Amino acid sequence: MLNTKALSNYNRRYNKDFKKYFKNFKCTWTLSLEEIKEYQKKQLIDLLLECFTFSEWYKEIFHHLKINEDDIKNNPYEVLKKLPILQKTVRKSEVESIINKNPERQTAAVGYTSGTSGSPTKNYMDKESINISFALWKRFHHVIGFNSIHPKTVRFSGNIVIPVKTKKPPFWLYNIFEKQLYMSTYHLTDENIPKYIEKLNNFKPKLLDGYPSAMFTLANYINQKKIDLKFSPIAIATTSETLYDEQRIAIEKAFNCRVYNQYASSEGSPFITECINGNLHLNLDSGVFELLDENYNPALPGSVAKLVVTSFRNMKTPLIRYDIKDSVLIPKFPKSCNCGCQMPMVEKIVGREDDLLIANNDSYIGMSAYKVFKYAKHLKNGQIVQKSKYLFVINIEITDDFNESDKEFLEEKVKSSFGENSKVEIVVLDKIPLGANGKFKAVIRDF
Ligand SMILES: [Zn+2]
Repeated sequence: MLNTKALSNYNRRYNKDFKKYFKNFKCTWTLSLEEIKEYQKKQLIDLLLECFTFSEWYKEIFHHLKINEDDIKNNPYEVLKKLPILQKTVRKSEVESIINKNPERQTAAVGYTSGTSGSPTKNYMDKESINISFALWKRFHHVIGFNSIHPKTVRFSGNIVIPVKTKKPPFWLYNIFEKQLYMSTYHLTDENIPKYIEKLNNFKPKLLDGYPSAMFTLANYINQKKIDLKFSPIAIATTSETLYDEQRIAIEKAFNCRVYNQYASSEGSPFITECINGNLHLNLDSGVFELLDENYNPALPGSVAKLVVTSFRNMKTPLIRYDIKDSVLIPKFPKSCNCGCQMPMVEKIVGREDDLLIANNDSYIGMSAYKVFKYAKHLKNGQIVQKSKYLFVINIEITDDFNESDKEFLEEKVKSSFGENSKVEIVVLDKIPLGANGKFKAVIRDF
């Protein structure tokens, strides 16, 4: 059944139009900054004009703001600045009015994005947007060293490919058309990991992609047992979860290849992708990025900024000035990269805003919160949950050697990171539960 679905997906994703866009995006990657900005401007005009004509929601907003087609053609960025920030709740409740009713854009697929709570958000996609999305994603693979569009891939994602109750392998499913082995992230226990490694050694993937937490779990096992793998991937691509430095180091060591991070959301946000120099480029040919502070004003260099996005890769359910509730760290000083791409860079993808923790002195601590686990001994996995301003629950999976001094070390680390008034509860678990969509959340703010 997977392969029946896979074939129809394959035909929809990798058709003639895909090839056209893929070729186009390989070229735009190395345009000069001036050229790429010109390209972006043209795409923005097209997007706004389509919404002007075919989206009831935007038609009314443009009318209300007294913006006409000439304003869009003459200065699309000025027009964009006047448009309201689109909040997740509004996109969810008003989706039927927001969608682009251009008769040439029939709905080709409907996706559902899971939120942390409540019902999922509907996401309509048209054929062209699907082709553009896959072309951008494959451009990222091309940039990090893949010549083939379908290298042998192992994918770790939140899809439940095998019933969670299953006790015996296979814990995976194979998609023949895209040469993808879907490995379950729900069955990665110490008992099952040797079976995963055996399968990986037989399959010999060139690319591993998906959730860093799943690959980190595997990597820790491989590193601790000093296992030599019988294959060497070209690269590993992580997405969907925040990638922590510790995870990157462990994964690169275990699989003996580079890890590249990629950001894009299932509702069709533009892409941020890592290049061969390890820099995160904003893919300006996939959308417009606004890096803003809490009051939606431009954020300062060196600060953690809100990501507000306008996307060229979902024309059916437009994302215009969408507050995606993720944040990035802006470089302190302007950066340049000699990888061949001149698109601007961010320092880090910090992750979900909800996951920024708060120190005793009210400062925000982003992904560095996870550093609490750096140098901690006898741990297999850790999660930090802030329950209230002063209460931190540390969930851990431990090895047999874990002892009282390891515990004290963790308590001390929390206090030195968040402040001396912090209260620390350490909870030992067999398996730290996964969050929505099977994602592992290393850092959670629970208030
Ligand atoms: Zn670069």
